[in-house]
Amino acid sequence: MFFEHCQEADDFLAGLERRNEGEPEFLQAVEEFVRTVMPFVLDHQKYIDAQILERMTEADRIIIFRVTWEDDLGQIRANRAWRVQFNNSIGPYKGGLRFHPSVNLSILKFLGFEQTFKNSLTGLPMGGAKGGSNFNPKGKSDREVMRFCQSMMIELHRHIGEDTDVPAGDIGVGGREIGYLFGQYKRLENRVTGILTGKGLSFGGSKVRTEATGFGSVYFCENMLGHRGDSLRGKTCLVSGSGNVALYTVDKLHTLGAKAVTLSDSDGFIHDPAGIDQDKLRFLKDLKEVRRGRISEYAERFKGVTFHKDQTPWGVPADAAFPSATQNEISAKDAETMIENGVQAVCEGANMPTELAGIHQFLQAGVLFGPAKAANAGGVAVSGLEQSQNALRLSWSHQEVEARLQGIMHDIHAKCVEYGENPDGTVNYVKGANLGGFVKVADAMLAYGA
Ligand code: GLU
Repeated sequence: MFFEHCQEADDFLAGLERRNEGEPEFLQAVEEFVRTVMPFVLDHQKYIDAQILERMTEADRIIIFRVTWEDDLGQIRANRAWRVQFNNSIGPYKGGLRFHPSVNLSILKFLGFEQTFKNSLTGLPMGGAKGGSNFNPKGKSDREVMRFCQSMMIELHRHIGEDTDVPAGDIGVGGREIGYLFGQYKRLENRVTGILTGKGLSFGGSKVRTEATGFGSVYFCENMLGHRGDSLRGKTCLVSGSGNVALYTVDKLHTLGAKAVTLSDSDGFIHDPAGIDQDKLRFLKDLKEVRRGRISEYAERFKGVTFHKDQTPWGVPADAAFPSATQNEISAKDAETMIENGVQAVCEGANMPTELAGIHQFLQAGVLFGPAKAANAGGVAVSGLEQSQNALRLSWSHQEVEARLQGIMHDIHAKCVEYGENPDGTVNYVKGANLGGFVKVADAMLAYGA
């Protein structure tokens, strides 16, 4: 393994497994973290005395509630929803809401845990949280989504606030859902304030928030390549997913002179060897954001494009990959294929898209591997900037926000180098991101005492 063998890490993880039985995603996220930070923790008695890892891997609180709503046939439906308030040591809880039938406690705990250290890496004062529901928005009418969001906020509103917990979007929650959620909060509380981010531009949203995760992930990759004296220009790139993150990754890749050749959804992936340019992106933005259609339509619309049903893009030879769909979408086998095909950089736009064994293979092969905590932090970073603008009661220009985003991604890269540089000058970005995120949260927790 790329992690040095460590008995203390093994013992810790065995205990963790007993305390969190049946939560594979959460255990996976913590394992990657603990195995990389344990040697540093063991070197600092103050962290051991404070039982820092035991405390950090337990959520502050988890709220579980029922959401009852009425479908278009007038039938009453019920879903389960959660808000995992993981850690607020360095700022109010912050993190998205996910609506997807796969959502469960394990997934939200892994996301809340990751969010804590990702938010720390941004340098902004944000704690970590995540929430969502097993509600499936696929095939639901606009009105059904609206009624669901309104009903969800009836419970959620008492747990959030600009100084306590500020949710945002994630898979299945975009501008439309944030609008419905915010409208309901306003009705309930009679306050129009920064309690959510990702808001519409007409009611307190920030410029560049929609683009931020995708743009940030491309900036991060450009920083990793730049550190090696290389750049994205002329590189062929695989992108998975077709949501916000994926589309704005493609957008920025095109601007920087790289060629994105794939996108995907749960039906399969499209391969466009000519590359996805701005014209094609306009079609895609309308397809996904307005018509909420399927990616296969892209292959029907443009010549030379193939659609590969029920497959992922990882078998297509390319220089770089931006997994931007969901967790565990790159298996160890996929990683092996990508390495054989000569991939040089992998940058995680989604949260935990690579299985642990896949990460191990990329690192062993010397592939530049940008872990999600660092690579996709641009989204929540601009959410933080949205909170700042709301607090100041003003709004910054596109140029201003994008420049700040670029600066934050640059600083995150520098932090990864500071904490993850190997003796031979290469960088282990997994270790760098985990340690870089850990130190600030740990020191705040120590300062507060037991
Ligand atoms: N869901 C996004 C993430 O995984 C954004 C969270 C936010 O903006 O609060 O980081």
